[in-house]
Amino acid sequence: MKVKNIQTYILRTPLGNERFFSSQCSFPERNSLIVKIETDDGIIGWGEGGQYGPPEPVAAVVKHVLSPKLINKELQNPIRIWEQNYADTRDFGQKGTYIEALSAVDIALWDIYGQMLNKPVHHLIGGSFRENVFAYATGCYYRGEDVLNYKDSLPKLAEEARSYVDAGFRILKMKVGLLSIEEDIERVKTIREAIGPNTSLLVDCNHAYNVFTAVKMAKELEKFNVMWLEEPVVPEDRIGYREVRSSTNIPIAGGECEFTRFGFRDLFLGGCVDIAQPDICVSGGFSEWMKIQALASSFGVTVIPHVWGSGIALAAALHVLASIPPSPHTANTVPLQNEPIVEYDRNPNPLRDELLKTPITLQNGKVPVPQNPGLGIEVNLDVISKYGSEF
Ligand SMILES: [Mg+2]
Repeated sequence: MKVKNIQTYILRTPLGNERFFSSQCSFPERNSLIVKIETDDGIIGWGEGGQYGPPEPVAAVVKHVLSPKLINKELQNPIRIWEQNYADTRDFGQKGTYIEALSAVDIALWDIYGQMLNKPVHHLIGGSFRENVFAYATGCYYRGEDVLNYKDSLPKLAEEARSYVDAGFRILKMKVGLLSIEEDIERVKTIREAIGPNTSLLVDCNHAYNVFTAVKMAKELEKFNVMWLEEPVVPEDRIGYREVRSSTNIPIAGGECEFTRFGFRDLFLGGCVDIAQPDICVSGGFSEWMKIQALASSFGVTVIPHVWGSGIALAAALHVLASIPPSPHTANTVPLQNEPIVEYDRNPNPLRDELLKTPITLQNGKVPVPQNPGLGIEVNLDVISKYGSEF
């Protein structure tokens, strides 16, 4: 079987009045870089790459660097292809755009490989420990005018937080870092009161702080029973991560901006995180995921993938989540304590909601793992045409 064709699509959906903010930027649109690989006997695989930056550079690497190496070549095991592509681009692409492009191609190749072998991807990367995954809602960003007058937005913030509990979520992630500590703590207090004591709260800073501010924030957050503190300092500051981690009893999460087993090795050796958050579309795809997961387990670090993109990214994350062993093993499973959870983004994103013919939806607080061969998804080509164009 040979690779016949590789197409890259850039999908964009402007958000208009629905735009929102993290501590780092506004989100005036959602976008995704989608890769479609077709074999000479008609199997089609889908992948997605990159999550945070502009999709064009990732598309350019797929089109001009990786595709020429694969087209008309015999299809190999995706791990072998990953190793060859990484070796070919190592001198200039150990992190960032190149790895995001490798991720997109790798996910599409595993989709094809699974269909060839008639097995869902999770069966091929370690087996299935669960068919459903506990979900946490990612929401409670800064919206509309909050940035200018956060006090007026508190009732709406409480309403939003309550809506997730009403929808069946038992874990919620909110944003901090855009305002002063005092102002952000008021937002945390508002949400904690809205969701009550029985819903777990995760707090994401998007690396808004230096070490001493992060330590101060963590001390304040300890009063609100926070389940994890995410990206307290910039991802390059491994010593800072360790200092924040040793200063608080809140578990520290991070890694959505980290790449490959080599990047995560350094995060683990530095004692930086309790929870590692590789994004499958960023850190190297399924092939690299297996190495990161193995490393994490040897360091006693829990892995909860970061998820942000379209329905393809969510499906990819669910396959790896199915394959994570309970850690540590006990006779019972408790979400996050020893059972993985899936990030279920609740911000507006038509690409997540419309791209798959059968969208992946919440059922009783859990999300089902696709069970069909490969990624187990069917992409709606009309939606590709509606929001995107070929690069
Ligand atoms: Mg985050």
